[in-house]
Amino acid sequence: MIRQFELVEKVRAYDPNVDEAMLNRAYVFSMKAHGAQMRASGDPYFSHPLEVAGILTEYKLDGETITTALLHDTVEDTVATAEQIEEMFGERVGKLVDGVTKLSKLELRSEANQQAENFRKLLLAMSDDIRVLLVKLADRLHNMRTIHYLKKPEKRRRIAAETMEIYAPLAGRLGMHDVKEELEDIAFRELNPDAHKSMLRRMEYLSADDETLIEQVIVELRETMAKFEIDARITGRRKKPYSIWRKMERDNIAFEQLMDIVGFRVIVQDVPSCYQALGVVHGRYRVVPGRFKDYISTPKRNGYQSIHTAVIGPAKHRIEIQIRSEEMDQVAEKGVAAHWSYKQGVGSADGRRYRWLQGLIEILENTNSPEEFLEHSKLEMFTDQVFCFTPKGDVIGLPRGGSPVDFAYAVHTDVGNTMVGAKVNQKVVPLRTVLRNGDQVEVLRSKTATPSASWENFVITGKARAAIRTFIRNQQRAEYERLGRAVAEKAFRDADHNFSEESLDHAIKALNLRSAEELYQELGRGELTGGRLLKIVFPGDRRWGPRDAIGAINRLLPGRLRRGGDDKSSVPVTGLKPGVAVHYGECCHPLPGDRIVGIMRKGRGVILHTIDCPNLEAYSDESERWVDVKWDVDPDHQSFYVGRVKAIVPNEPGSLSEVATMIASNLGNISNLNFTERSQDFFEMQIDIEVTDVKHLTNIIAALRATPIISKVERVMG
Ligand code: MN
Repeated sequence: MIRQFELVEKVRAYDPNVDEAMLNRAYVFSMKAHGAQMRASGDPYFSHPLEVAGILTEYKLDGETITTALLHDTVEDTVATAEQIEEMFGERVGKLVDGVTKLSKLELRSEANQQAENFRKLLLAMSDDIRVLLVKLADRLHNMRTIHYLKKPEKRRRIAAETMEIYAPLAGRLGMHDVKEELEDIAFRELNPDAHKSMLRRMEYLSADDETLIEQVIVELRETMAKFEIDARITGRRKKPYSIWRKMERDNIAFEQLMDIVGFRVIVQDVPSCYQALGVVHGRYRVVPGRFKDYISTPKRNGYQSIHTAVIGPAKHRIEIQIRSEEMDQVAEKGVAAHWSYKQGVGSADGRRYRWLQGLIEILENTNSPEEFLEHSKLEMFTDQVFCFTPKGDVIGLPRGGSPVDFAYAVHTDVGNTMVGAKVNQKVVPLRTVLRNGDQVEVLRSKTATPSASWENFVITGKARAAIRTFIRNQQRAEYERLGRAVAEKAFRDADHNFSEESLDHAIKALNLRSAEELYQELGRGELTGGRLLKIVFPGDRRWGPRDAIGAINRLLPGRLRRGGDDKSSVPVTGLKPGVAVHYGECCHPLPGDRIVGIMRKGRGVILHTIDCPNLEAYSDESERWVDVKWDVDPDHQSFYVGRVKAIVPNEPGSLSEVATMIASNLGNISNLNFTERSQDFFEMQIDIEVTDVKHLTNIIAALRATPIISKVERVMG
């Protein structure tokens, strides 16, 4: 176990300005807080936070991070509170400890099928400060190093699987290669002990011969570099069983020799020396084709830089060589953490905040496909999520297949409700575009915009769907109100009463409603008929029934029963030669508001059809018979046109009169009714209704649909 002064010394070695008092306070606080708690290994629990802090000193992380490491389990596992931590160690350490504590809670809850969700939360939780994640990774690394002490095999497996699926890839994304390798290798040992053993055996078998060979190669490379006056450090590093195994598995290749188990590195001072060293190696040894890669001129997205090559090296052995500078080597091993101490500079308080989100965006932007983001880990389980960004850089997680509309509603309901368009990665796109990982989405809005019902066809999140429905329901409510008031006024007039809103007060109370608006809505939806309303308002009047209501309303309608089709002179259509006879298609019953075409029939004039009438297909080859026509209705002299609907109602008393009442109270007039099917349970019927236009019919259909007793209603169009 590292002792107090040793830890402080380690930090001071790379950060002379570190707040030693804070480190000391954290050391003592954590030791006391964990008290007599024990690890599964039998060590005092305090050894764990101490080791985690030790791991982070290897990354030269700042005093706040090391302090956080010491304290990282105190809030979760001891009586210490977050407030206490903040009071004693300041707001920044308080926030960091809080961040790590939150992650640990996610871990406790995680079940295999929830890990996708955890992963998302993890990323989001990280978005504040990269150092939270660094502490978490060091925590996981130490827990994996001691995982063999855990007795329950299921628990070991679960932790190992989570490490393989979440933490090792995260370490990889952050460029922390050595953490990634170690996490993977221990997890591999737990998850696939047989494969791990067999890899080890094969490596042992080879290395008996090769141990001296490795030394031989290093010596020869060193001498070669010296001869060309290149200042270089040469290492030969054994690969981990897991990385060899995965390579064999992935590339479907056999275990070769040295090349597979040892990677040689030539580490030089600067970039020009890298290329000089490369020249020397390629000049001296025969190159193995197809193995050369220059990640210095084109770094990997996690910042990794190096030259990779393979040659037939000393003693005719194929060897892999990586050439890089010292700084590149640091970044390759320590990734983000190295950037952190190199570039952010230790000591400047504000410069410390790593723009984690920005980094993530860059990683994602430089990725060729969303799948590549997940490549190393076969994280198919996460492919049901996409992460997109607001222009400000906030992460919005959506289910895969989500659209800009889902995105807008995920940001805020108001954003969705006022959306008119979207830009994805600065380009305007259709709203139904499927978003991809890393897309930056800008929602275009307008104060006067409203959601469209058609969005429901492609949104996939519950939030978007619910918001769109609510909005449309409210819109319908306003429409019902308007209709309902018209019904009330007409009912009053029909009974020779003057209409006034005050005269409704009694009815509002009697019906247990709150306002005239509510009453209108009930009327508009047909839940209350004009007749019934009159009966309540004027109890002395003669009795009203649905039949009376139909009659009364039909009597009142202006120009009622004047079917447009019967009076040829009044056909409100433009685009026809004068004197041509016009008929309305009996198949599709076109109404003003429908898009229509005319078809010339010999000796019969022109027949109007809706543009989507199936019967038009018969004329598709005879374009000379098609006539362009448009409605031209005079709003002051509305006529009535027959629209046809199909309705299914239960075969029970009252259901038919309900249909009739509903149509009448919405100012429609039933001109014909046919039963198309009668079963024991249900009637299916076709109802011809005289209406002023398509909107009128739509309102009637909506009112019928809103009536609980009616099972199905739709317009018949051919
Ligand atoms: Mn821990």
